[in-house]
Amino acid sequence: LVFLQALPKAELHAHLNGSIPIQTILELAQQYSPSTVAQTTEVTDTLEKLRVKSGIVFNELDDFFSLMPAIYALTTTPEAVTTVTRAVLQWFLNPTGDGAESPQCTYLELRTTPRATTHMTRERYLTIVLDEVEMYPAIQAALIVSVDRRMSDLDLEECVSLAIEMKNRGRRVVGIDVCGDPRRGDMQSFTRHLSRAKDAGLGLTVHIAETTANTTEDSLALLSCRPDRLGHATFLSDELKAIARENRHCKPCIEICLSSNLLGRTAASLDAHHIHYYLKNDHPIVICTDDTLPFRTSCLGEYSLLLAQPPLGLGLSKGEVARVARMGMDAAFLRPCD
Ligand code: IMP
Repeated sequence: LVFLQALPKAELHAHLNGSIPIQTILELAQQYSPSTVAQTTEVTDTLEKLRVKSGIVFNELDDFFSLMPAIYALTTTPEAVTTVTRAVLQWFLNPTGDGAESPQCTYLELRTTPRATTHMTRERYLTIVLDEVEMYPAIQAALIVSVDRRMSDLDLEECVSLAIEMKNRGRRVVGIDVCGDPRRGDMQSFTRHLSRAKDAGLGLTVHIAETTANTTEDSLALLSCRPDRLGHATFLSDELKAIARENRHCKPCIEICLSSNLLGRTAASLDAHHIHYYLKNDHPIVICTDDTLPFRTSCLGEYSLLLAQPPLGLGLSKGEVARVARMGMDAAFLRPCD
């Protein structure tokens, strides 16, 4: 543990609303005033699943997405967004320095989807999150703006424009991410927006080939935008892996989320996980948590899986783990490799 704690580590794939500490969620739930009985039931059911350790049974990735509406119901006001962002940053970076808990990571690139609610616009949402991110020095925290696969052309236009404007105003937006239910959306219609973001100097990461539902056309459309990093890339065929490599002077780093893939059942076991392919082929990877709230994990937990002996872990040596951690630090958007 001491070795892992001392290792400089970058967390580059963490979704804000999937990473809220359970204590913060429970506190927000106490102040929650639902307007319908259905809302109450949904939030109560989700809380129960999140609170009880064995409460969530993930049979497929969709079980994760079904938790989100209740989490969103608790974070509709500016105050709640401030609270959760502050709690997430503190949990990852622990600025108190009281020695009670060490930071989960050295550098955090948090990502979130700008969300308009009855209480705020997307711009306000992003401003609130950035105000919290910028409380930390630039070498510690930055923001990636996520766009959801279900977004309309108009929504995409707004989110990408917001990200570019904020960056140009000197705010700490470093990239764009494509996320959301892998079965939804036409990625062809996303390409011009993603290319615009890249041309404006933003880093680009895309959830790609996350499940078998993602078609080759879907992945090709995303790869045509020259992403700097790839989220999951679990089911990327050998042909597509070759295209991804040819796309750039430097290979796109693969964001690996071991626990998420195991619990979301997109990887059958650690032994069968695609991390082995990338390690064997000396391809850059970064170890990430994805959503610590439902997957009950941490950066240190994910790194422990690298060190632990099979079948509990991958059985890498300390030297190999240190090399993996360095690759992660090198893949940060603060220094996009273009
Ligand atoms: P937010 O963007 O801060 O609201 O974080 C939650 C959102 O992240 C979810 O609604 C999803 O759109 C996205 N997300 C979280 N985990 C995953 C994943 O494993 N695959 C795809 N999208 C995800």
